[in-house]
Amino acid sequence: MATTLNELLGEQLLQHNESGDETSQIPTNQLNGKTIALYFSVHWCGPNRDFTPIFAEIFKKVDNEIKDKLDVVFISYDPDQASFDEYFKEMPWKALPFSDRDRSKALAKKFNIGDIACLIVLSPTCETITSDGIDEVRVSPDEALRRWTQGKRLFWSREPREGEFTWKRITCNQCFMNPFIGTRHGCTHEECQFNLCEICLLNNKHEHPLIEYLIPKKQYSLEELFKSVPHLLNSNNEEKIEIETMRKDGIKSIGFYFSAHWCSPCRAFTPKLAEVYKEAQSSSQSFRIVFVSWDRDEESFNEYRSEMPWPAVPLKAGTALEAYFQCVAIPSLFVISSDGKVLSRRGNDDVLRKGVEAMKSWAQGKKLVPPSTDEFLWSDASCNSCNMDPLIGQRYRCLTCDYYDLCLACKNKGHEHPLELVPQPVDDQED
Ligand SMILES: [Zn+2]
Ligand SMILES: [Zn+2]
Ligand SMILES: [Zn+2]
Ligand SMILES: [Zn+2]
Repeated sequence: MATTLNELLGEQLLQHNESGDETSQIPTNQLNGKTIALYFSVHWCGPNRDFTPIFAEIFKKVDNEIKDKLDVVFISYDPDQASFDEYFKEMPWKALPFSDRDRSKALAKKFNIGDIACLIVLSPTCETITSDGIDEVRVSPDEALRRWTQGKRLFWSREPREGEFTWKRITCNQCFMNPFIGTRHGCTHEECQFNLCEICLLNNKHEHPLIEYLIPKKQYSLEELFKSVPHLLNSNNEEKIEIETMRKDGIKSIGFYFSAHWCSPCRAFTPKLAEVYKEAQSSSQSFRIVFVSWDRDEESFNEYRSEMPWPAVPLKAGTALEAYFQCVAIPSLFVISSDGKVLSRRGNDDVLRKGVEAMKSWAQGKKLVPPSTDEFLWSDASCNSCNMDPLIGQRYRCLTCDYYDLCLACKNKGHEHPLELVPQPVDDQED
């Protein structure tokens, strides 16, 4: 059902002069016939905090031809008028008045928006062109804005063929395929955020060498897993170790330890892991660990790895491994057998739970027996009543309080709100 701009945004919008100190009202129907980008945002919003100034600069510099056809309307979730005013000042476009709270809530609901920033682009007849406005602008601002005024989105995608992997939120920088389907080649320089699909790779002009990403959950040989790692670094110096040494006879499994010096749970866990590792090494050297760093600079990387009795992947050479394991949080220990089977995706929990026994199993190329419900260890949760940390055994979560967990004993003592049993995560069954 077609809607008009007035129905969507009400009668009046706000705009301000260039310095931002004078705000005036304009009738919404001044925007009739234009492509409209609704910018849902809030001043303190985390992941897209940097987007407002970036988009403001782009919007100020855009060709008049585009400006005649496109406008942006800010829809605020700011908590009060003062933060709204301050935030809107940075924006060279229109806004829904702060007083129109009911309408901004209704719009957020209509477009299915959570509490993160979002840019929804609408055609002049109020049909949605794209909900990925922010990502489209980040990938190719000029092209995105130009296409929107033609009623088209920047991203496209296709159905995956058998065996092809779907990379969510990844874009091919040449043909703008997103989600990205199939073989992915990318630049490991974080600031580049550069990826090419198989077809666009034929026409690659990127200034840095590209690596081929490994497909998550597919089984690879150790040689393939280490393909994008040039060498390892010995624990306490700059000495280079050939990758070959990790594939020697007798090595049954390798633990990839993702960690960083700036992360305090990591700093707490590393000495425990090192202690257990040294003990395990004294009886068998068939299980090895390599450190894959999330440190931001060489100095902290070098300082951190000097505490570790195992070698490290050079800083920033672990991108393909990180994507392969889909590692999203640290500390994480992923254990792989020498023929590439996943022995554990929760190795750090296994080490806390079983100590040296865990490493003994891995040294034989074996998985651990999965923990029973009673001994399951929630490394990221504690009991909010008796403070058991980490929480072990059944975990109950309050449906009313935010992030309120209870152990079984405290659950039995009772809580004022309804509780829900949190299901125990299962390691992927990869056989
Ligand atoms: Zn492409
Ligand atoms: Zn690059
Ligand atoms: Zn408790
Ligand atoms: Zn509660």
